[in-house]
Amino acid sequence: MMQAGKGQTECPSCALPVEGRPAECPYCEYEFPGRSGKYRVVMWVALGVATLWILDLVLSALR
Ligand SMILES: [Zn+2]
Repeated sequence: MMQAGKGQTECPSCALPVEGRPAECPYCEYEFPGRSGKYRVVMWVALGVATLWILDLVLSALR
């Protein structure tokens, strides 16, 4: 396994050191999690909707 240097990130998919902190690997196009703000917002919105949905389900079950 190659050692990732300073300012480099090791791709968990192809194990190659990637320069900087990219959103995806330039070699295998692996998408690094939590790097892109767009995906983080989508994740939080989905989590919020799911929480509200579960809460609504629980409250209607109690009624
Ligand atoms: Zn890769």
